[in-house]
This record gives sequence, C-alpha cells and structure tokens, in this order.
Amino acid sequence: MELIRTIRLKLLVSPEQASELNASLKANRDALNFASQVAFDHGGISAYKRLQPLTYHRLREKFGLKSQMACNVCSTVAGTYASAKSNGRLLLANFTHSKLVYSYNRDYTIQPASQTLSLGTLSKRIKVPYLVGEYYQPYLHHEMWTFGSAELVPTRKGFSLHVTVKREIAEPLSRDCDAMIGVDRGMNFLAVATNQMDEVMFFKGRSIKDKKATFVRQRKELQRKGTRSAKRKLKQVAGRENRFMTDVNHQVANEIITFAKCSGSHPCIVLEDLTNINLNTVVRLNDRYWRFSWAFAQLETFIRYKAFAEGIPVLSVSAKYSSQRCPKCGHTAKANRDKKRHRFECKKCHYQLNDDLIGARNIRERGVEKRHQNEVAGA
Ligand SMILES: [Zn+2]
Repeated sequence: MELIRTIRLKLLVSPEQASELNASLKANRDALNFASQVAFDHGGISAYKRLQPLTYHRLREKFGLKSQMACNVCSTVAGTYASAKSNGRLLLANFTHSKLVYSYNRDYTIQPASQTLSLGTLSKRIKVPYLVGEYYQPYLHHEMWTFGSAELVPTRKGFSLHVTVKREIAEPLSRDCDAMIGVDRGMNFLAVATNQMDEVMFFKGRSIKDKKATFVRQRKELQRKGTRSAKRKLKQVAGRENRFMTDVNHQVANEIITFAKCSGSHPCIVLEDLTNINLNTVVRLNDRYWRFSWAFAQLETFIRYKAFAEGIPVLSVSAKYSSQRCPKCGHTAKANRDKKRHRFECKKCHYQLNDDLIGARNIRERGVEKRHQNEVAGA
C-alpha cells in the first residue's frame, strides 16, 4: 500500500521573485481558460491525447509556458471535462483561480540541507528559501520518501508550495500482535474501544449530537425560506457541518491509535464491517441516514490510514448480532439485552455488562478468532 502525504512549504520570496511567480500564475490561468475554450468548442474534449496536439504550440507561444507547464494545462482541462461529462453537466469550464502544478525534477527540486528549492517560472528558474513546520520535516528525506507533483498556492502573505510525497510500505500483519483493540461505532457513543485487558475508552456522542442538532435546525430554517440567499447559506452550513465532523473524526481516530499503542507493543485494531449494515433500524430513512453513514465511513478511513502509517494492522469482522451475543459463552439472543435499563445480561450464563460495551467486546473477540484463522491459513 502507498502512503501519501502533502507537506506545505512557505516560500520566502523577494519582491522580484514574487512578481515572477504572479506572472506565471496569471499566464497559467489565462492558458487554462484558453485551452478550456478550445476543448469546449470541440464538444468538451476529455482526453489529454486529443487536447494536447490542438493546444500545445499555442500555449507555448501565446502564453510563454514551459513545455511541462503546457502539458499540465492540457491534463488539468481534460480532467475537468472528464468529470463534467461523468456528472452529465457539460458547461464551459472557467478557471478563476490559477492551478499551477509542478513536476519533481522537471520544474522543481528541493534541497533540504540548505532549506531552498528551485522553481521554474516563465522566464527562468528561481532559487527560493523556504520555511517548513517541524511536523513536516521527516517527510523531506529523499531516502525514505519519493517526491511527487507540487502545487503553487498564493496565500494572503505570499506563496506556499504544497508538495506530495509518497512511500510504499508493506501491509502490517496481525500475526505478531500482543494486543487486540475492538472498536464499536454507534449513535450514543461515536466510538467505544476496548483492549485485551478490558480497559475501555468511550468517545461521547452527546456534545456532537447537540452540535449536529444545531446544524439540522439551521438547515431546516433555511430550507423553509427557500430564497436564493438562503440556498447559498445552506451550502455554507453544510460545509461547516462537514468540516466539523471531519475534525471530530480525526480526533477520535487519533485517540484510538494512541489507545492501541498504549495497549501493547504490537497492537491490532478490529473494526466491524459496516458495508452491509442497515442503519434503518437505528435511524429513520432521512438525510440523517447518509450523514451518519458518511461519518462512520470517514472515521473508518481515518483509522485505517493512521493505523497503517503506524504499522498497526486493522482487521474487519462481521457486524452480525454484535449487540446480542454474549461475549463470555456466545449465547445469542435479543432478550440478552435490556435496552431500557441499558444492561446486558446473558440468559444462559447470566454474565452482566453495561450494554454500551457489548459491541466492542464482541468485535474484539471476533478479531481474536479471525487472527487465529489467518494464522492457520498462513497469512
Ligand atoms: Zn453467556
């Protein structure tokens, strides 16, 4: 699997270099709009190979673009029409912001030792000192990371370069694990995690629910109004809500990783497979349905990615009856759970537990079984 990171470098440009970069950005934006018009006039060309011969020489002569920049313009425009076609809405694409993409070694290089980078502009290559956050420092090692494309981004005070770095690492194996962490996702608690020592970590959903309720109220009001400005505001609210949930999911995923690392030296995380679960039983089928399922799927992506980066394997297990099964004797019955009293009591062996914990415990147990099966299968 490939690990991808984006690192931000703040460029310390001289006034002269700033005007060089601004000129490049402007030429690039004009070139994008020119190529966009050509592509549109030909029925919305969405293939790079068709657009390139039609525009390349004019991009070079009319806008003074370097060879690689001209190619990047063609692929950006072709890509834009490809996604417009798949959305079924073919309109003339207008680029109000410049998107200046650089390829490593061809039009930019980085020298971490001297904290400088070399960047191509329309007229020449410029050498620019940069600042980088401590957090990003490790990613600048050429031996460990491969540099990919970079994007020049104008900021309020100057310019940043967003550099993509990649690294191929082996999928972590669950074979040598000394700790198992079961993670249950739900409505009352966003997530409940438990380890092999029965230590528990709850991530309360209450404050998130309250905050989400505020968003829902705001949206309903705006929907009722239905004016154009209300529609615009609706979009803003939806954006804020998504950013809020993304933030929360990042935090929860980080805490789960920390909890896993504290549970053993080779932890393994177990998640229930939610791809086929029917959330209708919990939430009525309205827009809360997809909001929750979206949030759960995102949390899983974050957990998997962060775990992978830490070399922690993640197992998926069946979600079936994970809230009805007795984690001690395996007896599965609806009657085991008393939802009103928030208690779980096994009708067979009388094992008792707080019902919020049942899911995570069962998921953990299934993870242990799955690891044994993998071991037998030699994986
Ligand atoms: Zn039991």
